[in-house]
Amino acid sequence: MNILFATSEAAPFSKTGGLGDVCGSLPRELYTLGHRPAVILPAFRQVYQAGLPIESTGISFEIPIGQKRVGCQILESHLPDSAVPVYFIENHDYYDRPQFYGENGEEYRDNCERFVFYSRAVLEAIRQLELGTELIHCNDWCAGLIPAYLKTLYAEEAPFDQIASLYTIHNLAYQGSFWHWDMALTGIDWKYFNWRYMEFFGNLNFMKSAIVFADTINTVSPTYAQEILHPPLSCGLEGALEHRRNDLFGIINGVDYAEWNPAIDPYLAPNNYDAERLSIGKTACKEALQREMNLPVNSGIPLVAAVGRLADQKGFDLISRVMEQWATEKEVQWVILGTGDPKYHQVLGKLAAEHPDKIAVRLEFSNELAHRIEAGADMFLMPSQYEPCGLNQLYSLKYGTVPIVRATGGLADTVVDVNAESLAEGTATGFSFNEYTTLALSEALNRACSMFADKPSWHKLIQTGMRQDWSWSNSAREYSNLYKRTLAQAR
Ligand code: ADP
Repeated sequence: MNILFATSEAAPFSKTGGLGDVCGSLPRELYTLGHRPAVILPAFRQVYQAGLPIESTGISFEIPIGQKRVGCQILESHLPDSAVPVYFIENHDYYDRPQFYGENGEEYRDNCERFVFYSRAVLEAIRQLELGTELIHCNDWCAGLIPAYLKTLYAEEAPFDQIASLYTIHNLAYQGSFWHWDMALTGIDWKYFNWRYMEFFGNLNFMKSAIVFADTINTVSPTYAQEILHPPLSCGLEGALEHRRNDLFGIINGVDYAEWNPAIDPYLAPNNYDAERLSIGKTACKEALQREMNLPVNSGIPLVAAVGRLADQKGFDLISRVMEQWATEKEVQWVILGTGDPKYHQVLGKLAAEHPDKIAVRLEFSNELAHRIEAGADMFLMPSQYEPCGLNQLYSLKYGTVPIVRATGGLADTVVDVNAESLAEGTATGFSFNEYTTLALSEALNRACSMFADKPSWHKLIQTGMRQDWSWSNSAREYSNLYKRTLAQAR
């Protein structure tokens, strides 16, 4: 099947979170299953910095945006070590900026226009490049208007009348909601600006438009697919989602083990390890991390880490409060890597300054350091308010770093809590808790620290985690089936 991935992120060209990981790895897996995937991205500034060869296709065109016509050219590359083509929509005014979506906690004011343009340019690129696309796999709000265009403005036009759409919700909370006059930018008839279609509380809503118009919809874990049918995780869209309930699926994300595998990870060399050669390599990685972070080098102290967007979603309020309590009371080291909300930059920076021998914080985006933290930490925290899938807990399992998670979304689907039953069955892989409170997180951490002191049990827990297989093979097959269903439904 000829599938085009419409997404704002695909690693290694562009990535701010899990969306980039998924759209950089799933297409490659689909290729090995015999599909013909391609990816189409905005040419953000970061795309050129990825250091991969990018060429012009020689194709350029203009798109009507409200009363204007705006031009772009289409560039081309490949996902590394693969035959999967990647196309880029180059328009420097829209995309050549320091960040992807906004700066200093503020969204770019023309985000609606930037992604209206992207959506129509994707369709125009299909036509001009003669891609022969059968299905557009649209991801998150940035690509949310594409299913709407296919069913409205372009519905009667070849080749679009033959193209199906699948919409994947990676995070329902980021909806792309804009004031109503922006509807005029889309070129779509105002008759669709009502509660049944594209309007939501008086605004134009990209996410809702996609939920209404896509042939099928999925989220990135089965539990999140259920959770979003009800408040609060429905974020107000429970009505629209309930309406599409029979076309809504949950497929857990996979891991690209070519990139996330401690046995071959170049950022760990020469201390690579696997489940069989665990002790020496992982201990060396922990020592190296303690050194890199200027923490006392001591393998006996539990090292707890968190990596991620510094957003309320990720539970950094709980993490910072528990760190503050524990820093004076317990022999535990903390390593935090992240960027995001300025309030967390401030509070985490302060904690690190107050407890330099216990807390190390890096307020930046560093893929290399993320890898070294996964390898060097003993425990990995993800006390998320909600988590559509979560990838870091899957990386942690592979790196023998015990995940401590709140049982929500993909975290509930992938981490088996340590309890009498799971220990007896040998299925336990981490620690999970339910209540979103510092007390519940502290209790889970306490349980983890007790087991950390009992080396044989800890070792068994780590090894069970490392032997899990969260590679893409199962999930890519599920996507394959969903594409078939989507095509059948569209015809
Ligand atoms: P989300 O998509 O909600 O941000 P995920 O857990 O699905 O969360 O994916 C996050 C991805 O982004 C992981 O690959 C993680 O390592 C990476 N990441 C997040 N923040 C940083 C950072 N500051 N430096 C390096 N990698 C990061």
